[in-house]
Amino acid sequence: MDISLAMRAPGAAIVFLVWTAAALPAQTPPVTIRARSLVDGRGGRIDRPVRLTVSGGKIVSIEPERKGAARADYDLTAATLLPGLIDTHVHLSWTFNAEGRLHTEKDPDTPAQTALAQAGNLWSTLQAGFTTVQSVGSASEKDLRDAVSRGALPGPRVLTSLEPFLDEKSTPEALRQGVRDRKREGADVIKLFASKSIREAGRQTLSSEQLEAACGEARSQGLRTLVHAHSPESMRAAALAGCSQVEHGIFATTEALETLAAGGTWFDPQICLVFRNYLDNKPRFLGIGNYTEEGFATMESVLPTAEAMFRRALATRGLKLVFGSDAVAGAHGRNAEELVCRVRAGQPPRDAIVSATSDAARTLSLEKELGSLAPGMQADIIAVEGDPYRDITALTRVIFVMKGGEVWRYRAGGAGPGNGKRKTGNRKTKTSGD
Ligand SMILES: [Zn+2]
Repeated sequence: MDISLAMRAPGAAIVFLVWTAAALPAQTPPVTIRARSLVDGRGGRIDRPVRLTVSGGKIVSIEPERKGAARADYDLTAATLLPGLIDTHVHLSWTFNAEGRLHTEKDPDTPAQTALAQAGNLWSTLQAGFTTVQSVGSASEKDLRDAVSRGALPGPRVLTSLEPFLDEKSTPEALRQGVRDRKREGADVIKLFASKSIREAGRQTLSSEQLEAACGEARSQGLRTLVHAHSPESMRAAALAGCSQVEHGIFATTEALETLAAGGTWFDPQICLVFRNYLDNKPRFLGIGNYTEEGFATMESVLPTAEAMFRRALATRGLKLVFGSDAVAGAHGRNAEELVCRVRAGQPPRDAIVSATSDAARTLSLEKELGSLAPGMQADIIAVEGDPYRDITALTRVIFVMKGGEVWRYRAGGAGPGNGKRKTGNRKTKTSGD
């Protein structure tokens, strides 16, 4: 912009505006979104038409919609805006092979087929309104994380544990060394198995000494720890060892839950999606590893156990609940179904949403950037059809997905001229959450 030309314009304000435009050539025009209401992810809501403005990949303002305001770039008249959802426990590397069965290393599938199936998981997850996930189970997740981060693949922001620690025979020193190795390899978090799966009754596999070594070393390396634990003994051991988050806890007793609450350990229980997905896709899993008829019978019988456990968790004073679906092959993109189950089991919709937005961001230490709708936050914004406070299944009807200011899904809600076009914010903006 020619400053001398601008100086001839009457009024200082105009000179200032032109000057700003000249000084920030990379800025794209602001993008506006209008919706019927807004849920901020911190427990607050605006139950009237709102206008949200995004620029440079961040939220600039949230205001009540004014009468006679100009048309918004995205008019989501009948929808509710929320922060992009966060799932703290998924398995992006779990896919079905070319025959439609669970992919294993014995498959004849080519590496390209497997990589494409994983890219499909990223896409399904993003389209379902999940703009950040923590994937905990495989070294290949690093490639997925980095491909999304550099813009080579569409997907949610990915954090990963890389390979988890499973070996019951590891010495404390070997675990400490392993944690340091993972950090060097680029892990964002450490994943440990402190118990067997429910298909093997969930008995404890890592001792207190082993957990203290791994979680203690992770803490001193600035890494968080996620611990798979089904039995009450393994849950208590993880909490007492100062591990950050306990997963599953299907056989949790009140005492185990109180130990987690006392230690400030986050708890991420799963009560339906992971089991239902296995049962829905039984022929794709049966006969592989511990996916036996007996294992399936256990998963079917455990659904009421899981729901009763979750009710105990809700009743445990001070227990911090976070959302993680444990999405495996077949469940990517269905993540919100687990939130629906949690609400049906008694969690207030407001708390369920906070557990998958601002609290989930807090467990990832990303709460200053992600997990809530407020000026200055990353523009990770979704819209759902209806009101999730009144009907939580609204979370399964996502019509708009923006991540870092870039739109990945848009189905106009309320129609009218100007809808249906694709427009993005500043594509160049990268975030520390990527
Ligand atoms: Zn898992």
